[in-house]
Amino acid sequence: MTLESELAALGVEVSTDRDLRLKVSSDWSRMSPVLQDKLPPGRYLADLVVRPTSPDQVPAVLAVAYRHDVPVTPRGAGTGNYGQATPFDGGIVLDLRGLDHVEVTGETVRAGAGAKLTTVDEVARAAGRDIWIFPSTKGSTVGGFVGGGSAGTGTVEHRTTSDGYVVSATVAPMDGSGSLFTVSGKDLEPYVHTYGVTGVLVDVEIRTDPAREWVAVYGSFGSYADLVAVHRTLADLPVRPRLASGDEPALVPTLPVALDPERWSLRVIAEASTVDEVVDRIRGGCGEVVRVARDYAETDVVSGMSYNHPVYFLQQSLPADAPRLFHVESSGEPLWDSPDAVRACYSGPVHLHLELFQHGPGAMIVAEYSGEEELLAGIRRLESIGVGVHSPHQWYVDRNVELARETARRTDPKGLLNPGKLVSSPPVDSRVNIGVVR
Ligand SMILES: Cc1cc2nc3c(=O)[nH]c(=O)nc-3n(C[C@H](O)[C@H](O)[C@H](O)COP(=O)(O)OP(=O)(O)OC[C@H]3O[C@@H](n4cnc5c(N)ncnc54)[C@H](O)[C@@H]3O)c2cc1C
Repeated sequence: MTLESELAALGVEVSTDRDLRLKVSSDWSRMSPVLQDKLPPGRYLADLVVRPTSPDQVPAVLAVAYRHDVPVTPRGAGTGNYGQATPFDGGIVLDLRGLDHVEVTGETVRAGAGAKLTTVDEVARAAGRDIWIFPSTKGSTVGGFVGGGSAGTGTVEHRTTSDGYVVSATVAPMDGSGSLFTVSGKDLEPYVHTYGVTGVLVDVEIRTDPAREWVAVYGSFGSYADLVAVHRTLADLPVRPRLASGDEPALVPTLPVALDPERWSLRVIAEASTVDEVVDRIRGGCGEVVRVARDYAETDVVSGMSYNHPVYFLQQSLPADAPRLFHVESSGEPLWDSPDAVRACYSGPVHLHLELFQHGPGAMIVAEYSGEEELLAGIRRLESIGVGVHSPHQWYVDRNVELARETARRTDPKGLLNPGKLVSSPPVDSRVNIGVVR
């Protein structure tokens, strides 16, 4: 039997359609000019797209691939930014979106890896629970978020996907066994944010809180300093906000909500009992309260303008002949206190999109692209002034690398899972010191 017929005999969808293979062989790494150049569509192409619809089909697919020495790259919605779902050695792209079962089990939610976070949140809210964190790409999958994402709405309180977000997971190893195993607690570490190189997540159980009433509050300010003066107080509210994003005027007109393009924008997802306090702080800080919206759907609109999204909106608004823009993911007090020193790390116009972390600010720093070397030199300059940076311009696993390598020796002895992403010494700068307080 050929690989294809063996797979088809398992009852999974198998496709060799070129357009589909092209589509699922890329992700949103196109937001990085470095990765645009290194990973143009079509350079790396899956040979087969395989779509399981039941959990037990995943280990069965991996067992067949193992026997045939065929690489497998897991994929959710393909919204990852780092090219980390690109099948460098071809083989199978395993589209997990058919695994979309969601179930609330007391204080947690168990979801198939391919369930969209919009659905996971909807089911959780209907059962009176709030999932801890979801990314601004809420239509992405929970398996992809755990496998490749990090932070988002909920991060002010619950930090990242590596900080207790996952309670347990069912994992399919690539060891020829055709089996599944369950991991929980500290044993989850090598499976979170390691791009599927240690095993395919079949389902995940994530933490929730009792549901709260969330309110979208929009404010605006006449200067960056005024915006920051309020932004920096928001983690101290009696109930932490779910999100607090800020943008400079350069980023404001491209947001999907009409806001004054001359003013600095603040958008907060505040817990209902803290709304009056947020409003007072905005007004007391020389700001204007633009809008208070109490419908939960309105808070999703605010989430959809957070993290990488303003960078994407700005990139989309540019004419084709404009200089390309890149961003770096950053954190640290200089983003609040010394924005000019931050901007001076790159030449040309530099813009800041602010987020609030538990212990300080985070930002997407957006600048004009003039080459990878200059981009990396700017990262060193940022670090020299105390800004922590995570580079979104490389595809290597950059969290728990040694632990992932040790685990993969057992769970993927032939190195067939998402090849090319797990190396001990990446040839490019893959620093990840975001969140480091200097
Ligand atoms: C505009 C924009 C905004 C974004 N905002 C955020 C944000 O707020 N926060 C954030 O953290 N990220 C953000 N991202 C990145 C990305 O959208 C999220 O991390 C998203 O949750 C990834 O899910 P996905 O289903 O698209 O995963 P994919 O892109 O399909 O996969 C991501 C990685 O996980 C691996 N993977 C996928 N499924 C599995 C599985 N079941 N088992 C093991 N490995 C798997 C893939 O191989 C890949 O390496 C943003 C991206 C864009 C383009």
